[in-house]
Formats: sequence, C-alpha cells, structure tokens
Amino acid sequence: MSEASSRTLEPSDPPQAAEQPMEPSQANRSPATEPEEHQTQSQDNERPLEPQSREPEPEPEPAPPAYQEPPRPSLFIVHITPELAGVAKVGGLADVVFGLSRELAIRGNHVEIILPKYASMRYDQIHDLHEVYKDLWVPWYDAAIHCTVYFGFVHERKCFFIEPHSQDDFFNRPSIYGFQDDILRYAFFSRAAMEFLWKSGKHPDIIHCHDWQTSLVPVFLYEFYQPMGMTHPRVCLTIHNFAHQGVTGKEVLTATGLHRPEHFLDQVRMGDKRYRQALNLLKGGIVYSNFVTTVSPRYAYETKDQGQGFGLEPTLHTHHIKYGGVINGIDYDVWNPEIDRHIPVQYGLDSIERKYDNKRALRHRLMLAENEKAIVAFIGRLDPQKGLDLVRHAIFNTLERGAQFVLLGSSPDARINADFWGLKQMLNDSPDCHLEIGFDEELSHLIYAGADMMLVPSRFEPCGLTQLIALRYGTIPVVRAVGGLADTVFDKDHSARPLHERNGYVFKDYDNAGLESALGRAIACYNDFPNHFRDLMLNAMRSDYSWNIPGQDYLNIYDYIRDA
Ligand code: ADP
Repeated sequence: MSEASSRTLEPSDPPQAAEQPMEPSQANRSPATEPEEHQTQSQDNERPLEPQSREPEPEPEPAPPAYQEPPRPSLFIVHITPELAGVAKVGGLADVVFGLSRELAIRGNHVEIILPKYASMRYDQIHDLHEVYKDLWVPWYDAAIHCTVYFGFVHERKCFFIEPHSQDDFFNRPSIYGFQDDILRYAFFSRAAMEFLWKSGKHPDIIHCHDWQTSLVPVFLYEFYQPMGMTHPRVCLTIHNFAHQGVTGKEVLTATGLHRPEHFLDQVRMGDKRYRQALNLLKGGIVYSNFVTTVSPRYAYETKDQGQGFGLEPTLHTHHIKYGGVINGIDYDVWNPEIDRHIPVQYGLDSIERKYDNKRALRHRLMLAENEKAIVAFIGRLDPQKGLDLVRHAIFNTLERGAQFVLLGSSPDARINADFWGLKQMLNDSPDCHLEIGFDEELSHLIYAGADMMLVPSRFEPCGLTQLIALRYGTIPVVRAVGGLADTVFDKDHSARPLHERNGYVFKDYDNAGLESALGRAIACYNDFPNHFRDLMLNAMRSDYSWNIPGQDYLNIYDYIRDA
C-alpha cells in the first residue's frame, strides 16, 4: 500500500472530542414512546380495585425494558462541492449534494456546504445571503489571494460561498465550467475551502468532496492542515463520473504550494497512468481519501473490473478496501407529482389518470398533435456518454412506430448543439416531435409528468437520475443495462425480479437493434395492453428511490471511517 493511502487510512490521530456540531437536532435522540416506568404506573392506576379479603397477589415481574437502538452521535459534515441544485447545477452531482445534505440534516447531523460564489448563480434561490468572513487570504503561487466568504440558505441548506478577489476572476464568469483554466479554478477553490475551515476553526467529523474538482481537498488536508493540527476530519470522496479526472501539468502543484513534483507525480500518488509527467487529480482524491464512493454498485464494479475506470482500474484495485457504490436517491420534496408546483395537475398512485392532464398540457406547450399516441421523452446533457446516436435513431424509430417524441437537452459542445439544431429543423413540420435545445428545469418537470416513457440509452451511466425521476412520475424508463440503470430498472418481460418490482424496459447491446427491441416492446404494450402498462406505471411509482436508504449507507460509511 502506498505511503499516502496507508497514512490516511490509519487512525493515527490521538482520540479527541469532536467539535460540537452547532445545532444538532436532539429530536431523534429522545425515545419515541414514554419511558417504561411511566407506562407501568399508569396501567397500575387503571387496574380495577380487588376485593379486600383476597390474598394480595404477588407483584408481577416487571417486563424487561424493550431494546432501543442507542442514539447515534450526530456528526458535523461539510460538503465541498462545485455544484448545488437550485443555485448552480450542471448535472446529477448538483442533485446529489442537494438531496443527500438534506437527508443527513433530517437525521440529526449538522451539515454545511461550501461552494464557489459564481456570478452565474441563481441568487433568487439564496435566502439571507450575507458576508461572514471578510479577510480570508488563500495561499496561491508565492503570494495569496484575498477572498470574502458569504453565508446563505439554499432551501434550508446552510451554505458558504467563497468569493476570490483577483484578476483571474475565477468564478466571475458566464457559466460554471468550460474554461481553459478550469483545473486551476477548482484547485484554488479546494485550497480556499480548506483554508476557510482552518481559519474559522471548524473541525468537521467528515469532509465530503465530489469529483475531480474537489479531489485535492484530502491532499491539502494531509499535506498542510493535518501537520498544523487539523487531525480530526475524515474525508469521503464521491466520484460521479470517471470520464472526467482533472488531468493536468505540474503547474497546479506550484500554484497550490504542493512542492516536490517528483513526489506527487509518483504512480502511487497522483501520477497519471496514461500521460507521462501529468498529474491526475481524481487519482489523488482516491489515494488520499479515507473512503471513496461512486454512485451505484454496478458502476463501482464496472469501473474497477470491467474497464470503465478510464485508466484508474489499478488504483481502484489497490484501494479496493475503501471503495464502494452507493446508489443515488432523488429528493422527493422536489420530484414528487403529488406536490410538484411546476406541473399543472398534481397526481399520485390513487389518481394516476390525472397524469394525462399533464400530457395534454405538455402537448399544448410544445405544439404537438393531440391524439392517442404514446409520448417517448429524452432529457439529458447532449454528451456522447448519453448514447446520442441511439437517441437520434430512437427519434425516427418512435415516429415510425406511431408514437411522439420529445427531447430536452443541451451541450457545451457547439458541434453537438449544431447537430441537434439541424435535426430540429429537419423535423420542424412533424406534429409528433419536438426537440428543445437548452436547459430548462421547469419544462423538465412537465416532461417527466406528461410523457409515457423516458429513454436513457447511455453508453455508460454512473447512476442516472432521469430514470429515477421518471419512475416517480409513472413514466416508464426504457434504458440500457449499464451502471446505475441496471441497478434501478427491471425489465417487464425478462427480469428475474418478482412481477411487482418490474418497472421498465431494458436492453443490453449498444446498437440500434437493442434499442428497437426495448422501445418496440414498450410502445406495443402501451398500445395493445393498456392495463399491463398501467400496472407497470403503478410499480414504477411505488419504487422507493428516496434518499432514505442511501442516506443511511453514507452514515454507515462515515461511522466506519471515524472508527477505523
Ligand atoms: P448527468 O449527471 O450525467 O448529467 P443524471 O441523469 O445523473 O445525468 O442527472 C441529470 C439531471 O439533470 C437530471 O435532474 C435531469 O432532469 C437534469 N437535466 C439534464 N439536462 C437537462 C436540461 N436540458 N434541462 C433541464 N434539466 C436537465
């Protein structure tokens, strides 16, 4: 085992009291029922009086106290993240931090989130934003950059926003990603987040970081902050996608003060396997963190053992003992057709027919023909990962099969965007097809509610949230059996699962024939066996992909690395 990994895994710190979380909810610590002795007392009082003449009966043996789970200590957890749904969302990472942080807080933990103060954020979604730390100086090259830290609530989540003041204008840009200096921007943010924790005296039990953007956090903790005395926090890294690893040159070491390039470029630390003399930030995150998760068990297996790790397979093997998959949940406060304010008609299991009012509204909004046809939808980033050639094929195949197609997607890649604009132009006159090129959260809700099927034909898919959201809205997923899609969607006709757990259509091979077989079965069922299709919708809506189970899984991981 490498020096770095063995040292971070070892609980080398002397045991010390965790910094008290600021407002741990005590609610879940108090027993749910009255204490045992009070119950016995009140029962005694209600017992009818016995005739005086009878021998007093011996006192009954007191019942042994019912076993109660010992209350788990609440943890102080800090997420350091480049994205957060509501204010700064590009993909699923944003939803995960949003949903998981809430679940952890509901369970009585103190949760804070640190993210950059992007100029492009949705400031209308931040409540009570105010300055809390005026003069944070973050080491950068041979000098330091002056930052201001703000605090605000994003839908009740406690968030700190770091704003650097320098000519680099790291976050004062029109979008979140897509700049040549992205790696330096997030290296700076990671260093600033750690410096903020240190200077403000916060010693969380757990620092939870995400993807390559914040993979330097455990490196900084180990190299700079543990030696200064910050020995308490343990780090969990979640990898949402192995396709992006932050591969870069030595410059980032100079910028962040990680001198000794030969040390960090070593293959057991951050040396990239494919590009000589290049650093791999995600690899550093894996090596230096106490635990590494990815977002589904199947993707954990695919990345370690099935060649899907984009070169990080050997690293995952070396560190397999601290690597695992936790399926993402979705936030049912946001994605719930019973309370969704973005859709015109709310519905649930008992009122599923009202879903069709949303279908009508969707057609009206997108100017699609009103008819008996099924609507197949695709929502997602227009990225080759999402199976764009199959999406394209599915559009024509759906129309040939007498159904309608709706697409909502966008890409930072101008060529891909242009490609889909061309397709949109070509299909402009079709009354059964609408392609919406752009990012529109509100429209996405209407599509989830109004469509009959949701297509997710990904080449690879770490977890996938679209199929989970679709399930909640009774919109039947048609997916390829990869990553989290294989862990969450079970084929109506071919799954080994019991009938009531089957909730969609699945195909294996990444080709047109595979796609057509699943899509064809789905549309045929909709047309010819409406009762079966309805049963499938009910199964889908009953599937539980809330944060309840994954929230507990993460707490188990946190406990494990705290105790290790
Ligand atoms: P990824 O993280 O690879 O982008 P996921 O399926 O995990 O994919 O998460 C995608 C999230 O982004 C879902 O919440 C989906 O509804 C949303 N989304 C993707 N593209 C768009 C878009 N163009 N407009 C609105 N929401 C979108």
